Amino acid sequence: MDSKDIAQALKGLLGEDRVVTDEAAISDGSRDYIGFRQYERGDGKCWMPKAACIIRPQSVQEVSAALAWLSENKVDAVPRCGGSSVTQGVEPVEGGVIIDGSAMNQIISLNENDMMVTVQCGTPLEQLEAFLNKSGKTTGHFPQSLPMAQVGGLLATRSTGQFSTYYGGIEDMVIGLEAVLATGEIVRIKNVPRRSAGPDLRHLFIGCEGSWGFITEATLKIFKYDPESRWMGSFAIKGMKNGLQALREIMTEGWKPAVARLHDEREMERDFHNIAPEGHCLMLFLAEGPKPVADATGEGIRAIMAKHGAIEMGPKPVQHWLVHRNDVCGRLDKFDYYNMGAIADTCEIAAPWSQIGEIYEAVLQRLPEEIPLLAAISGHSSHNYVQGTNIYFSFGSIVMHPEQAQPAYMAIIKVIMEETLKRGGTIAHHHGSGKYRTAWMPEEHGSSYILLEKIKEAFDPAGVMNKGVLLKK
Ligand SMILES: Cc1cc2nc3c(=O)[nH]c(=O)nc-3n(C[C@H](O)[C@H](O)[C@H](O)COP(=O)(O)OP(=O)(O)OC[C@H]3O[C@@H](n4cnc5c(N)ncnc54)[C@H](O)[C@@H]3O)c2cc1C
Repeated sequence: MDSKDIAQALKGLLGEDRVVTDEAAISDGSRDYIGFRQYERGDGKCWMPKAACIIRPQSVQEVSAALAWLSENKVDAVPRCGGSSVTQGVEPVEGGVIIDGSAMNQIISLNENDMMVTVQCGTPLEQLEAFLNKSGKTTGHFPQSLPMAQVGGLLATRSTGQFSTYYGGIEDMVIGLEAVLATGEIVRIKNVPRRSAGPDLRHLFIGCEGSWGFITEATLKIFKYDPESRWMGSFAIKGMKNGLQALREIMTEGWKPAVARLHDEREMERDFHNIAPEGHCLMLFLAEGPKPVADATGEGIRAIMAKHGAIEMGPKPVQHWLVHRNDVCGRLDKFDYYNMGAIADTCEIAAPWSQIGEIYEAVLQRLPEEIPLLAAISGHSSHNYVQGTNIYFSFGSIVMHPEQAQPAYMAIIKVIMEETLKRGGTIAHHHGSGKYRTAWMPEEHGSSYILLEKIKEAFDPAGVMNKGVLLKK
C-alpha cells in the first residue's frame, strides 16, 4: 500500500483531523536526538526514512482501532510521545506510520490518600511535576529531559531520573497501566501496592520501547515534596577508582542520598570550570526525606568521604548543578555540529562495583588508541545501587562529511559496548536499546534473548511495531 492510500484509510478510520500528512510535520515527528543525526541534519538533506503520515489519536479506542488496522494491513508503526529519544527509537520505517500519543495528555486523577496519580501517555513530565508540586507532592522522577519527555515514553524506555538513588527508576514508580497490543487488544493492569498473583505484568510494557504495545495510561506513585528539608554537599577526590570506592561504601553502609554523582577530572575541568583542585574528580550529593533523615545521610556521607581523603567543598556546587542541570534541553536545537565539524553525544552503561572501574578505564584507554579523530571522552557515575553503578560516557569526534557521521559514531559505541559486555555489564542503563544498540542485544541477554523474541511473536504477530528496536527483526 502506498503512503497516500495509508493516510486515506487512516483518515477514514479515525477522522481527517487525526492524520497529519504535511511533509515538514512528518520530518519533525520522525526526529530523534542521536548524535550522528544531529550532525547530518546540518547538511540539509533528509537522512532518515520517511513515514507515510503521523496519526494523533485522542483515546485508547482510537489507538486500538489504528493498531488493529495497521497489523491487518502489515503497515509499520512507530510509537512516539515526547520525541526526546536519543537511540533512534522514534525513527520511522520507510512508508510506515508514526503514532503520536502527545494529544492524550490529561491528568486523569490525583489520589492523595493512596499517594498515586493517573495520567494519559502524552502528559509532559514537567507539567505533571508542576501540578503535583502545587499540593506538596512529586513523582520523584527527574530525567535531564524533564522539559521534553512525556509519561508514555518514560515508561517505554525504562527511564531513570537524577534523584534515582533515593526514588528508583520509573520501573519502581509505576503502580498500574493501560496499553494496547499490536493487534488492538486493550489491556489494563490494576493499581495495587504489590501483588504475588503471578509475574509482574507491568514489566512487559516498562521498557518495551513500543516493540509490541502502545502505552496509553499510567498510574504513578507520588511522594511528599519538601525541598527545604534537603542536605547538600560536594567533595573533591583524587582518582575515579577512589571515588567509586567511596560511592560503594556509601551505598553498602545503607545511606540513600537522592543524588550521588562522581564526575571524572575531565568533566570537573570542562563542565564545572575547574571548581575543584587540579587533577581531582568532583562528587555531588543531595539527600531528601524528613529533615533528620536527610541530615543524618549528610553526616554519614561526610564521614565516609573523609576516610577517602576527600576535600569538602560545601553545598554551592550542588546548588549550581541543581539550577542548571537541564539547561542542555533548551540548547539542543541550537548546536550546529555540521559546521563545527564534529559529532558529540553520550552513552550510558552499568555494571557491578567489581567491574565498573575497569570498564571506565578500558574505554578511556581504547578510544584514543582506536579513534584517531577522537576529540573528547569523559565519564561520570550518577545512578547508584548497593550492587553497582552506571557510567555515563560523553564523547566527541571530528567528522568532515555527513557520510562519516554514523560510522564514526558507531565506532565509538562499539568500543563502549564491547568493554561493557566483556565484563558482564549492561549496554544500556537508561536510554534503552533503540535501533543503534540492537546489534548487541543478543549478547546482552544471552540465553534469555529468546524471551524477547517470543513476546514479540505473541503480542505483535504481524511484526509491525517499531521494527529494529530491541530485536534485530
Ligand atoms: C537532553 C536529553 C537528556 C536526557 N536525559 C535522560 C535522563 O536523565 N534519563 C533518561 O532516562 N533518559 C534521558 N533522555 C532520553 C529520553 O528523554 C528518555 O528516553 C525518555 O524516556 C523518552 O521519553 P519521550 O516521551 O520523549 O519518548 P519518545 O522519544 O517519544 O520515545 C522513546 C521510545 O519509546 C517509545 N514510545 C514512546 N511513546 C510510547 C508509548 N506511548 N507506548 C509505547 N512506546 C512508546 C518510542 O517508540 C521510542 O522507542 C534524555 C534525552 C535528551 C535529549
